[in-house]
Amino acid sequence: MKVALLGVGQAGGKITERLARFDADMGFGAVQGALAVNSAKPDLKSLEFVDTQLIGADRVNGHGVGGDNELGTEVMQSDIQQVLGALDGRVTSKAEAIFVVAGLGGGTGSGGAPVLVHHLQQVYDVPVYALGVLPGRNEGALYQANAGRSLKTLLREADATLLIDNDAWHEQGESVEGAFETINDRIARRVGLLFASGEAVEGVGESVVDSSEVINTLRAGGVAALGYASEVASEDSAENIRTTMSVSRQALLTGTSLPDATTAEAALLVIAGQSDAIPRKGVERARRWLEDETGSMQVRGGDFPLDSDRLGALVLLGGAERSDRIEAFMDRAREAKQAQETESTDHADAFADDRLENLF
Ligand code: GDP
Repeated sequence: MKVALLGVGQAGGKITERLARFDADMGFGAVQGALAVNSAKPDLKSLEFVDTQLIGADRVNGHGVGGDNELGTEVMQSDIQQVLGALDGRVTSKAEAIFVVAGLGGGTGSGGAPVLVHHLQQVYDVPVYALGVLPGRNEGALYQANAGRSLKTLLREADATLLIDNDAWHEQGESVEGAFETINDRIARRVGLLFASGEAVEGVGESVVDSSEVINTLRAGGVAALGYASEVASEDSAENIRTTMSVSRQALLTGTSLPDATTAEAALLVIAGQSDAIPRKGVERARRWLEDETGSMQVRGGDFPLDSDRLGALVLLGGAERSDRIEAFMDRAREAKQAQETESTDHADAFADDRLENLF
């Protein structure tokens, strides 16, 4: 699937750069253009592999919006024409989808991404998806509250929102900050593989997954999640059938970007590996298992010939919002928002009796 990528904020920019670099290193040619947008100049300066666009210079002078996602929304709204202008020509007629990438817990990405998705929907005919990073459980209340509002708005604006939980794709015991590199690398490889799965890869044969299958899986809208697992392939075909089942199970049950997301309206199973190591019988068996497990009647499947000694399963879930993890996250976001409101009311109350007059 040919995509244009737009990273907003620090996490958005870094992940966009990783995705573009992975796609180029692998020679997939799925990423058609990549642009990073931020209100913080130093964050843009650290990117080497993507084009950049500064926003909000008149408001925040290149210093970023801190954790203020309402300000993030405002600066994106004010400078939207510049961003769309910078995109002109980058979203070529070849792009089959646009992905807006952002960390949902911060300020610029959290507040800016939904605005950008909204405007892209007016301009382009192709689907506009969000790729959003949810703050981990131990990130502060402000992150949770910001992400809750951002997610709510993205779900309204985007054709689908692929969520990566910051607690999902790193090793146990690693702090979230220390784990960013690992997480970003996994996002780049896994989402990068998803983009590339609809592309024919030169030298390793034809892909049998079509871009339209990715788009149809995401047509359910709402929340999407991605799972991945791989194991070393064998010379023995019976063994590869077992491995295909095993990696598919792990991809869904322990390897998703949104832990506990196992029910979905639609799903896509892509088995990646050497063509002759991918067992037809194994792929079909795994596809049927996925149907049972997700409760979806719409489970598409295909293989992705890749020059690798491993067999990998990539599972894309569409319409996966009924997960415990999403419920728990939304509860946390609501609590954090309420706590913020109580706090600010208390501050105002403390001055309510003051006999000094307000300025206006
Ligand atoms: P912004 O620049 O104002 O949009 O803020 P950030 O992009 O720093 O967003 C903060 C949120 O994104 C928090 O939940 C962080 O934990 C998360 N985050 C920041 N940097 C990274 C990163 O490199 N990788 C991942 N996975 N998450 C990040």
